[in-house]
Amino acid sequence: MARTVVVTGSTSGIGLGIARAFAKGGDNVVINGFGKPEEIEAARAELETLGAPKALYHGADMTRPDEIADLIHTAEKTFGTVDVLVNNAGIQHVAKIEDFPVEKWDQLIAILLSSAFHTMRNTIPLMKKAGHGRIINVASAHGLVASPFKSAYVAAKHGVLGLTKTAALELAETGITVNAICPGYVLTPLVEKQIPDTARERGISEEAVKTDVMLRLQATKEFVSIEEVAATALFLASDAARQITGTHISIDGGWTAQ
Ligand code: NAD
Repeated sequence: MARTVVVTGSTSGIGLGIARAFAKGGDNVVINGFGKPEEIEAARAELETLGAPKALYHGADMTRPDEIADLIHTAEKTFGTVDVLVNNAGIQHVAKIEDFPVEKWDQLIAILLSSAFHTMRNTIPLMKKAGHGRIINVASAHGLVASPFKSAYVAAKHGVLGLTKTAALELAETGITVNAICPGYVLTPLVEKQIPDTARERGISEEAVKTDVMLRLQATKEFVSIEEVAATALFLASDAARQITGTHISIDGGWTAQ
């Protein structure tokens, strides 16, 4: 039977890749995020072509608790429940702590960390009623280790791992698992956009940002692909993963082995 999968921040990059993977498996998908209306509609329609019985778009802003509640309630109204919740929406800002704009700090914490609390508090009652559920938080290698100039991102991603563990314990006897995925660098718009800022902060060329900063600790010297992250989300959502809870899976080319 088709599951219902909500993926936040899925009009682009990793989130869209995850939505595509679930659609290919025949699940209903609710996508979310920003972008040009015609591009979002094309992405939504493609999910139905790939195999989703129905794909829905909801434009909830992940900084807005009321809009997040409406996203989950719209999914419930349309499909009856939410079987899989993927917290993925994200942005980045690269600056020294003393130069870090306060409103950027608040925005990153809201989108990367608080939004997962809000989606979860609205979704957990539905999953409890159904007696099963999968919550997958797209964290980052930066949920485990730090890099300079990314204070809000690193703090939020460490927080996501704490939230993941807490929720897993609270839900351990309910048939709901809660886990995180910690990717290393994946070449998505989020990463492409931070290359010029990182080059400026470090006084190096944009090419050097890729080879000497991003891939320096990625021991394989390769970027992670969107499809590899999506395959891990599919696995965590599968029956085979039912005893995996309160943990993370790293896909980082050996970065955090060091
Ligand atoms: P991306 O920029 O391609 O996609 C981000 C998505 O989030 C887009 O759909 C965007 O519209 C959406 N979004 C941004 N602000 C939003 C808001 N306020 N409300 C709702 N949606 C919003 O980025 P990506 O690289 O695919 O990142 C996805 C997730 O993966 C993020 O949580 C990111 O931290 C994480 N991640 C990315 C990498 C990487 O190297 N790209 C590595 C580790 C973790």
